[in-house]
Amino acid sequence: MIAINGGSPVRDTYLNYGQQWLGDDDIQSVIDTLRSPYLTQGPKIAEFEQVLAEYVGAKYAVAFCNGTAALHGACYAAGIGTGDEVITTPITFVASSNSVLYVGGKPVFADIDPDTYNIDPQAIEKAITPKTKAIIAVDYTGQPVAVDKIKKVCNKHSLVFIEDAAHSLGAEYNGQKIGSLADMTMFSFHPVKPITTAEGGIIVTNSEEYAKKLRLFRSHGITSGPFSKTQGPWAYEMIDLGMNYRITDLQATLGISQLKKLDLFIQRRREIAKKYNFAFKDYPYVKVPFQSYEANSSWHLYMLRLNLEMVTASRREIFEALRAENIGVHVHYIPVYWHPYYKDLGYEKGLCPIAEQWYEQALTIPLFPKMTDSDVDSVVEAVKKVIQYYSK
Ligand SMILES: *Cc1c(COP(=O)(O)O)cnc(C)c1O
Repeated sequence: MIAINGGSPVRDTYLNYGQQWLGDDDIQSVIDTLRSPYLTQGPKIAEFEQVLAEYVGAKYAVAFCNGTAALHGACYAAGIGTGDEVITTPITFVASSNSVLYVGGKPVFADIDPDTYNIDPQAIEKAITPKTKAIIAVDYTGQPVAVDKIKKVCNKHSLVFIEDAAHSLGAEYNGQKIGSLADMTMFSFHPVKPITTAEGGIIVTNSEEYAKKLRLFRSHGITSGPFSKTQGPWAYEMIDLGMNYRITDLQATLGISQLKKLDLFIQRRREIAKKYNFAFKDYPYVKVPFQSYEANSSWHLYMLRLNLEMVTASRREIFEALRAENIGVHVHYIPVYWHPYYKDLGYEKGLCPIAEQWYEQALTIPLFPKMTDSDVDSVVEAVKKVIQYYSK
């Protein structure tokens, strides 16, 4: 009997879909920084930026207080402003397109590829107008977008390529690390993401000009500037309207410590994904995630596509039954333009049919490096138990 109907659950304890993995080394590094003279704006921020830039193979990195702020900074640095259009995917967290709204631009949603669920380069091409300024592509679930095709479109139309890589730190495209490929790439360090600084984000880039603008924007639009010559050594100069989007040394020190373990985290994520692929590949009730040959995913999320024609239950009933089994399933994401705020801006349902169809069948199952093999087995057992129960 399934738990939602009074049976006993597959697990006694609730298993979330994602979770950080902190060790004593991480905790000690934060304590050491707490005892240092700097809690913020000290040496740890530059050090974190340097090690992360080196890891991904980019020249510059500018850390922010969260990934959303970092994306806002990228839109500022790209010069996006009132009336400019930015093409992005509807299957993402709202921050990807909100960052365009923050600078007065207009997000334009392009439909997804039916296999990878990433933004479809052909749909991008169709959405381009004379007002298009940039593309924000999201490496959804950790699988890199079609970088080569997107770059080609960007070069042809002189667009800035911003990669929302919140899911894909450590992933590779044609053997190259994500972070070395787009004009600007954003990583997030929220606790469910590949590594964590509690809150935190970063933009990596090979452009010195972008890096300068990002630093300016992160700290009120203030530089030391020529005022220091006329006013005196105390002076600083505000030359544009920036924000206070700085990260702290406490967070940066945690990031430095976490980054050392990223490769192990990803290795474990890939191992778990392989187990899921094996468990579900010949199971007709679900479709396992397709992987394109250029992409080596960091497996931020593992998403099943439910074959709802083979069951008597809706996605919601399956979802609730799995939660009752103590499996922390989730759905990533509601198409962005379905949200009331976007609806009020004039976006309508039906805009991206492939994305909407994917959303209706999507189910995220738990995947994070700290999961044990028996956690993984419990997820497989629960999914099969629930689906078996509802099978036609
Ligand atoms: C998490 C996330 C963000 C925002 O990052 P925060 O650090 O939480 O602000 C942006 N885009 C995507 C796709 C994300 O998953």
